[in-house]
Amino acid sequence: MANGVILGGGAAAAGKAVRDLVCIVCPVGCRLRAALSGGETLVEGQGCPRGREYAMAELTAPMRTLPTTVRVRKGFLPRLPVRTAAPIPKEDLLRCMEAVRRIEVTAPVAMGEVLVENLCGTGVALVATRSMPALD
Ligand code: SF4
Repeated sequence: MANGVILGGGAAAAGKAVRDLVCIVCPVGCRLRAALSGGETLVEGQGCPRGREYAMAELTAPMRTLPTTVRVRKGFLPRLPVRTAAPIPKEDLLRCMEAVRRIEVTAPVAMGEVLVENLCGTGVALVATRSMPALD
């Protein structure tokens, strides 16, 4: 049903909150138009079924992987690239960034090493995305 729905002015006029999105699941970046209607997510513009899943998540419970860096003591470089091991709720990103900003690790660190088991109660780990040798 959703693929054939026209979410133009008619949807907006009907009181549906229409959202224009860019699908970030793959590099194609399809431009999506989505709305919630009676518990159903109406989506158009997707090049494949994953676009519909992405739009549904964006309208109901958006999630994001958090890529960032932390300070490193005695490391070859001053900062270590890290990311969450899985997507976390988008609404938790700022709170998690505040926590990550206070983290300092000591080299050496191995790629994939878990630095925080449960980041801010999200149930998701923070992991190193590269190895960091110690300075001699
Ligand atoms: S809808 Fe499918 S093809 Fe389009 S960007 Fe998303 S994943 Fe890629």
